[in-house]
Amino acid sequence: MKVVPRNKVIYSFNPEHKLAEHVKLGETVLVETEDAFGGQVKNERDSRETLDWSKVDGVTGPIYIENAKPGDTLVVDILQINIEEKGAIVTIPKSGILAGKQFKPSTKIVEICDGYVNFDKDVQVKATPMIGTIGVTPKSEIPTGSLGKHGGNMDVKELAAGTTLYLPVFTEGALFAAGDLHAVQADGELCVSAIEVAGEILLRFNLIKRRKAEWPILETKDSYAFLACGDTLDESAKFATEAAVEAFMREYSWPFEKAYMFGSLAVDLKINQVVDPKKGVRAAVSKDFIKLESLFAR
Ligand code: CA
Repeated sequence: MKVVPRNKVIYSFNPEHKLAEHVKLGETVLVETEDAFGGQVKNERDSRETLDWSKVDGVTGPIYIENAKPGDTLVVDILQINIEEKGAIVTIPKSGILAGKQFKPSTKIVEICDGYVNFDKDVQVKATPMIGTIGVTPKSEIPTGSLGKHGGNMDVKELAAGTTLYLPVFTEGALFAAGDLHAVQADGELCVSAIEVAGEILLRFNLIKRRKAEWPILETKDSYAFLACGDTLDESAKFATEAAVEAFMREYSWPFEKAYMFGSLAVDLKINQVVDPKKGVRAAVSKDFIKLESLFAR
């Protein structure tokens, strides 16, 4: 098993970055990650003012995947996520969905023990560790805090152990990176951060050759979800829906109208987050209605 240490940190997806590691298909890789604050939030006096913002939103990578070529789909099995026992969450004025309200910068450090996040005395939330930022490198540089068709800072709560992420490959070797673990986050990530935590991710990579999805696709036990983003939630919902309807057209050889109708019956639109540079929506479809084969355009 290869280990990619958390000091191999990058703050953008950039095809020019020095490689952190080279991996073969099917090999397991342990990726160590720093929290989204770059480990700078150590106590509740640390806040927006004390942070070095150049060290925020780092991810570990880039990892060169053997044989990955533009036009392929990178298959990422998320085998396990281990998180540390302490996490942090902040409010940042003018940030989050309630950015228009007056409020102060604040920081909360939480203990995570026995599978629960201790948010307050007598208020525990079950820890459901997930990956906030995960992606491949597009043709030109994009900051790790942003998101797009390459993945990035998608903040999808279902991106957890036991799932598989499909990412379109844009560059030789895919140049994969991940980080920004959350101990728990609900759909929306309302206040701009979740329980940000350092940890490690056990991954395995494969490829689907010469087939490419328009947007990242997340496979959970029962469903496939198209992970789209846009400048508004409406736009994100439109892109996610388009991806699902096109997949139905491939699956059933239906004309657009029939696939669009079926969308009303079989697609659940869910909000990923409303606080990143672009808003994220996923269109989830039960595996009863679609096969893996139909997810990707020819
Ligand atoms: Ca994030």
